[in-house]
Order: sequence, then structure tokens, then C-alpha cells
Amino acid sequence: MSVAYEPTGVPALNLRAQYDTIRDEIEPVVRQVLESQGFVMGPEVSNLESEIAEYCGAAHAVGCASGTDALLLPLMAIDLGPGDEVITSPYTFFATGGSIWRTGARPVFVDVEPDTYNIDPAAIEAAITPRTRAIIPVHLYGQVADMGPIREIGERHDLMVLEDAAQAIGAAYHGRRAGTLGTVAAFSFYPSKNLGGFGDGGMIATDDPMLARRMARLRVHGMEPKYHHHEVGLNSRLDALQAAVLRVKLRHLDAWTAGRREVADRYRSLFASHGLEDMVGLPVERPGNFHVYNQFVVRVPQTLRDDMRQHLADRKIGTEVYYPIPLHLQTCFASLGYKHGDFPRAEAAARETLALPIYPELTEAEQRLVVGAMHQFLQERSHPSLFSDRAA
Ligand SMILES: *Cc1c(COP(=O)(O)O)cnc(C)c1O
Repeated sequence: MSVAYEPTGVPALNLRAQYDTIRDEIEPVVRQVLESQGFVMGPEVSNLESEIAEYCGAAHAVGCASGTDALLLPLMAIDLGPGDEVITSPYTFFATGGSIWRTGARPVFVDVEPDTYNIDPAAIEAAITPRTRAIIPVHLYGQVADMGPIREIGERHDLMVLEDAAQAIGAAYHGRRAGTLGTVAAFSFYPSKNLGGFGDGGMIATDDPMLARRMARLRVHGMEPKYHHHEVGLNSRLDALQAAVLRVKLRHLDAWTAGRREVADRYRSLFASHGLEDMVGLPVERPGNFHVYNQFVVRVPQTLRDDMRQHLADRKIGTEVYYPIPLHLQTCFASLGYKHGDFPRAEAAARETLALPIYPELTEAEQRLVVGAMHQFLQERSHPSLFSDRAA
């Protein structure tokens, strides 16, 4: 007799489900690194660099310690500093703005597009000044920003275009993968990313050999050769253990991406079959974009968002808000002089979006639980009189 598996909750992220499928491939490569006793950089890292470069279609890739450093190193490599400006999105993970600030340059935020939450090319153009040195478009949630016009603006004004592709490895724009759509691109291997290590790690991709060489030097204290320091860099080396694990996982990445896209499709049909398409704003996948769904982010009115999140949490369904406070309103950036209302689309998104569980192993039964719980919540909210026991 077979018993249908009935989930009793759904975590926002389930890394163990993936680990269970690759444990037998991971253990031998970890043991190899242990036996080699070579823990930092080395052949695993240079092999991963070649494989990531090939995967993206970029000429060079440089491993580093995190996605944050993968943003910082290209900015250091163009000698960015006080007096310079870098244009980016306020609706992103902190590292995008933080890396600009770390160089001494000024982050200049511009608003996002209302449907994709990615940076608005027209707003970039309007924010360019003689001090602008770079643009950092963020491929938010796994969908590439509108890189055609962004790249054109970068070329016309002679600016570095640095893709923040931390959430978008494998994503493509008109057939070209993230990592080859600007001057240089930053990837993160933080465990929750589509290609996640067993700790921190990052990678930079570029076609520019001089830039690649400079970044490779900056990640080892500006040293080349040993103990000759041309400039002050960082310690941002990548561990051999991470590289070994990531090389195994890279072989599965396209299958996992396909899994994420299936999960996204299934969410769309479940929301449609519950008649919720008008009440829950679903992610927009632009024509020409291949979305890799690092997140599946829906939108609900701000008066409902936090209560809905609680309703789901009460049913052991994990969700997240990416991101509740746009960067221009963060305390540490107060001296930049931004205020509430400066970027209405980013601010509205921060109040109204909710990231649902998504990972390649998510089952249909789990997704039914998520959508069913949202349906129940919305029914109770729109017909409160039917639920007298809940009336205030
Ligand atoms: C994760 C992330 C980063 C930073 O990566 P870390 O590896 O955590 O340093 C940067 N930008 C975005 C958009 C991210 O999601």
C-alpha cells in the first residue's frame, strides 16, 4: 500500500534535500583535498575558474572569498575612490552598495522598474555626471537586468558596467549568459545561491585580460610575484575545499536551474487554479530573459503582506522579505542625504513583496500547501464576516 506523502510544513530553503542527492560525489573530492593538505587556492581553484569562465562564455574568471569581494575587487581595479560616483539599484542586498562605499566612492541610487524590480536604464542615464565611473546593475532574484540599454549607456559614457550576478548564475539575456553582458561580473557562492558552496566564496568573470590580471593580484594583497607588493589589496583567496565542492555542483547546475523553472511554472498554474492571479502579483519574466529563479517573489498589498507572512509561518511555511529596507534608507548611508519617497518603486516593492520557498527539490505537494495557505488567508481577509470567531 502506498501512502501519499503529506508535508506538514515547507522551509524557505532546504539545502539538505540537495545534499542528499550529491553526497556520494562530494565526499571523495573533499577527502582528496584533505589528503592533499592544500587548502587555499591551488589546482581546484584554477580548475573552477576555467570551468566558470567556460560556463558563462567569459575569457577569464578570478576566484575570491565572497560575492561581496567579487563586487569590491573590480571597483578597486579601476582605482575607484573619493570623488567618484557609481550608479546602482537601492533594491538589492546590502553588499552592492557597501562595496561602492568601501572604496570611498559615492553610491548613487536610481529607481527600479516596477515589474522586474531591476534597475531602470532611463533612470541611470538621468543620473550620470562627470564623476560617474561605473554602473552596477543587479540581476535581482535570478533575472538579468535590461542589459542592452545599460551596456549602451556604459559604452557611450566610457563607464565600467559591473553585473551583480550573485543571484543569477546561468541566467541569460537574449541568449547570452550573465557574466558576459557588461565589462565584468560578480558571482556569489553563498550557500543559498543557485550554485552554493559549503561556506563563503565568490568569482569574477570578464573578457578583459588586463582587468583579470589586476583583480587576481588585488585578491592576494597586490602581490606579484611572491612578496613583491605593487599595491595594497585584500586577502580574498578562495578555499580549495569550496572549489572542489563547487566543481561537483557546477555539473548539476543546469538540471537544478531547470528544476527551479519547473517549480516556478507550477506556482503559476497553482495560483491560476486558485483564482489568485489578480490578488497575488506573480514574477514577470521579460521576453528575451532566461530567469533562473534564485527567488520566487510575489507581491501583495502592503496591508496584507506581514500578516500573510505570519499566517504562513504559523503553518510552518517559511518565507522571506528581500529586502525590507532599500539601501538609500539604511542608517549607514544617512550621510548621502536620501529620504523616504526618493525611489517610490523600490520603496513600494520593499513593503509589498514576499519570497516563497523555491529550490529544485521542492515538491508539488509542498507547493500546494504554500498556495493553499495563501488562498485561505486571502479568503478570510476578503470576507471577514464569514469568520465571526476571528472578528475583532
Ligand atoms: C548574495 C549577494 C551578494 C553578496 O554575496 P556574498 O557572497 O554573500 O558576499 C551581493 N549581491 C547580491 C544581489 C546578493 O544576493
